[in-house]
Amino acid sequence: MRGVKEGARMKEETYPFVMRPLPYECYALAPCISAETLFYHHDKLYKNYVDQLNLALADYPLLQNLSLWELLGWPENLPESLQTAVKRNGGGTFSHELYFDSMQPLGREQDPKGALLEAIIRDFGSLREFREQMTEAAMGQFASGYAWLILGEDGRLGIRNTANQDVPDFKREIPLLNVDVWEHSYYLQYQNRRKDYLNAWHRLINWRKVSRRYEEALEQVKAKKMLRGEWMELTDEEKEGYERNELEEKRGEDAAWKNPGKFMMNAESSYAWNTDDEKLLRE
Ligand code: MN
Repeated sequence: MRGVKEGARMKEETYPFVMRPLPYECYALAPCISAETLFYHHDKLYKNYVDQLNLALADYPLLQNLSLWELLGWPENLPESLQTAVKRNGGGTFSHELYFDSMQPLGREQDPKGALLEAIIRDFGSLREFREQMTEAAMGQFASGYAWLILGEDGRLGIRNTANQDVPDFKREIPLLNVDVWEHSYYLQYQNRRKDYLNAWHRLINWRKVSRRYEEALEQVKAKKMLRGEWMELTDEEKEGYERNELEEKRGEDAAWKNPGKFMMNAESSYAWNTDDEKLLRE
């Protein structure tokens, strides 16, 4: 499949969900995040969310073919008895995978560039302003939760914070980057100094992966605009490669977004949205 290296595991996988290894050694983020912190966070806490998610789905064979994206984005399709468990453990699985996969050892490229940098400047004013707003959202998240950088269906970047293991609204927003502000992500090392942890986290962001997610998410946003008949709003560049009429015949209103389907994640490419939809769009 496009963009996936041979042998890479994909996150379009379904039940039973498999714990994803760290894309670096657990000591590789020191001194920003200590090996001890990362070890317990990944090998114990994150693992528990994956295990609990599998346990919750074990009794629901008909739902075992849903991806994590589908489970989390459309909870109304799930029986009520399962919704809380999926929200907590599916959310915990998704959020931790994105968090771990969005970091890299110090000394690598530390700033975004290209189209993502331009979008950051357009939507936040400057890179510095983005960093401040992200920190502010993370500091402002009372008790446990996350701060997120998302791409909205309007094609604009935004910052969100969520409580507990909640994720942004997948129906309208595609997450590009997140930071965990549960105390377990920093307390061993920073105790109550959440802001020091956040300052260190900013230096670890793997912008190459975030950029790639941004480009993939932008494709989804474009497809959604087209399926809504907002063709006139697209630039010539955006129209390239798409044939409006064919598309509308093939897909119902909003179909691509309603089922952006499988996202996949691996150490190399982070995640991407459904290649089947892309195939249809390109045919
Ligand atoms: Mn965590």
